[in-house]
Amino acid sequence: MGPLIYLDNNATTPVVPEVLGAMEPWLWGGFGNPSSGCRLGREAAAAIDTARSQVAALAGCQSEELVFTSCGTESITTAIQSAVASQKRHIVTSAVEHSATLRICEDLAGKGFEITRLPVDASGQLDLDELKAAIRPETALVSLIWANNETGVLWPLEKIASLVQKTNAILHIDAVQAFGKIPLCLEGLGVHFMSFSGHKLHAPKGVGALYINRRVPFTPFLRGTQENGRRGGTQNVASIVAFGKAAEIAAAHPLEPTLRDRLETSLLATIPGCCVNGDRANRLPNTTNLSFDGIESEAALILLDERGVCCSAGSSCATGSGKPSHVLKAMGLTDARAKSSLRLSLSRLTTPEEITRATEILPAVIEKLRAVSLADSPVAFS
Ligand code: PLP
Repeated sequence: MGPLIYLDNNATTPVVPEVLGAMEPWLWGGFGNPSSGCRLGREAAAAIDTARSQVAALAGCQSEELVFTSCGTESITTAIQSAVASQKRHIVTSAVEHSATLRICEDLAGKGFEITRLPVDASGQLDLDELKAAIRPETALVSLIWANNETGVLWPLEKIASLVQKTNAILHIDAVQAFGKIPLCLEGLGVHFMSFSGHKLHAPKGVGALYINRRVPFTPFLRGTQENGRRGGTQNVASIVAFGKAAEIAAAHPLEPTLRDRLETSLLATIPGCCVNGDRANRLPNTTNLSFDGIESEAALILLDERGVCCSAGSSCATGSGKPSHVLKAMGLTDARAKSSLRLSLSRLTTPEEITRATEILPAVIEKLRAVSLADSPVAFS
């Protein structure tokens, strides 16, 4: 097996040396508690302040509007719980959310909330007229993903924000996949809450942030004095510093679609019965989701892994479930086509050489799987 070709960056990204270098001192000498008044504590608090400004610069918001959390899931949970603290009992979300949003909405449905799950079209796009029609006076919250983790499809954030702004509902956006991959300016946008996660942009796993618009009422999820009373729990200083550094680097290195496009174009040209899932014009620059006629993605993942290519079949959270992706199903794909899909996601560390090798390995693996399934019982889709 040759060197690893990591094409699973929507699942998580490697920590880059500059980020590791920035966080390391806070695991050794700089171990102070940022809430403590001693010198070590004050230094840790100052390091968090710097990280907050770095993340705020990437988000285009004020530092005070950011609260550090333990992950994207905690940010999402906090935003949703806070938004539904009013008397209103209706939530609008979509059928293609990440499991973090899906699960909490299921819990809230069990507690008597009415949930409207907006459908998407064949390209994974949301119908804004349907969104508008779904919002009612008793709608507490609209919670929508910005960039889909499986397909990379991007929804029109500004249009969504201006539409929800005309109502009394609170708007939460899950920007975990988009943050650091495409530009963002929260100032004046009209979004109330936005969720971020460090490990999608080369910081370690286990650190996130929640944007809380300074004009929105907020009820903390974890009670305590830290983060200005908005998130209890001693901060994970080293990981927060890492997130800040990663945000600073992301701001300086915008992601280009060049390598993703090269990979996609080559696979479409060389593999018959291969097609892209999702809106190709409005997508993250690093993601492609492809279906391959007549194969099972779980089998493809094993063969690809043996040949050094790491990727996934849809969301990493659903790996091994054997179920077709809820995102692809919501887009109207048949079970067979949904179960034959692979998500290839690049990062700014992906090299042209890796893409060249991937364009050789993938067709060979698909051909091998098709030969096996032809000998067995072929399943084809149109
Ligand atoms: N939202 C989206 C769109 C994601 O892709 C993920 C992670 O895969 C999350 C939320 C959850 O983030 P975390 O892993 O930091 O909890």
